[in-house]
Amino acid sequence: MKFGTRLIHNGNEIDEKTGALSIPIYQASTFHQKDIDGPVEFDYSRSGNPTRKALEETIAILEGGYKGFAFSSGMAATSSVLSIFEKDDHIIVCEDVYGGTHRVASKFFNKFGIEITFVNVTNIENIRKNIKKNTKAIFLETPSNPLLKVTDLKGVVKIAKEHNILTIIDNTFMTPLLQRPIDLGMDIVIHSATKFIGGHSDVIGGLVVVNSEALAKKVYFVQNGFGAILGPQDSWLLLRGIKTLKVRMDFQQKNALELATWLEKQDGVTEVYYPGLKNHPGKELHLSQAEGSGAVLSFKTDTPERARSFMKKVTLAAVAVSLGGVETIVSYPVKMSHAAIPKTERERLGITDNLIRVSLGLEEIDDIIDDFKNALL
Ligand SMILES: *Cc1c(COP(=O)(O)O)cnc(C)c1O
Repeated sequence: MKFGTRLIHNGNEIDEKTGALSIPIYQASTFHQKDIDGPVEFDYSRSGNPTRKALEETIAILEGGYKGFAFSSGMAATSSVLSIFEKDDHIIVCEDVYGGTHRVASKFFNKFGIEITFVNVTNIENIRKNIKKNTKAIFLETPSNPLLKVTDLKGVVKIAKEHNILTIIDNTFMTPLLQRPIDLGMDIVIHSATKFIGGHSDVIGGLVVVNSEALAKKVYFVQNGFGAILGPQDSWLLLRGIKTLKVRMDFQQKNALELATWLEKQDGVTEVYYPGLKNHPGKELHLSQAEGSGAVLSFKTDTPERARSFMKKVTLAAVAVSLGGVETIVSYPVKMSHAAIPKTERERLGITDNLIRVSLGLEEIDDIIDDFKNALL
């Protein structure tokens, strides 16, 4: 079965009890136990809920993993995964990781004795150099945010296997439609389902898929124990979002390539970052491990003033921090998503005050181009 079909037919699309073509929202906190000695599948919704279970099974199937878990946000998912580690464990994290992940890794998990090293993993030799006796995991994103840098997943897996280290990827930008890291040997996949999986800018949620029973036990212990679960209503919204993931992503991705190609030709635009462009340094590598370039791009203007005036003049695109919705969203990383990173560190990473990030929506591209043309003047 092709992947696009599996988004709709994966065994979790029909309610067994009624035949409904939509899994009901089981808005229940607790479940009657007919026999206190008998086994029960559901007793309390922190431990398990039928709507959440349908979502968790769906994402596990789509990512090709052993088991899926749904959390109350992408950060709850990331934090719950980081919670499977112990005091004195060392984790290598890619240096241009999502700002919230950078924050919990450097200002929260450090309090519990988890040691973090931020590394530029696009050169995988940097991983090898930073491995220590207590290194237990590598956490990365590819393509990265906001500069769409590409990391060699198979190369990372090879190094990790040599050293018996877990590999964790935040696959938010790609979704399982475009990139399935477990097939390439990665151990844990995380999503901010708030973005492309939800797809409509109306729900905050996070998903995790693991590739083994041992990891499933560890993540379930945290999910049930720590309790940052996704509610049934939001689980249902994500199940609905998944059904249209392919049509949305295909269209948004086409829009992204058209906008990137157009931006490259504009006066006042000095740099366009999109893995689908011929001159993107990671293009070949990216397309060897993913089936498309996604719908997020970024670009630099000739001056910071032009970037700031663009953000003020743009009218059709929303100015917002999120991405992956049906509407085109532009963001100004230095003032928004990456404001928490100190200026010198930001500039070292290339996140400068002439940088703009774009998440393409489902509008007709000509209207977006008109909006951008006007805003760039
Ligand atoms: C938004 C985002 C997150 C955090 O997810 P929330 O749902 O906002 O908690 C993590 N990683 C990436 C790549 C994101 O874009």
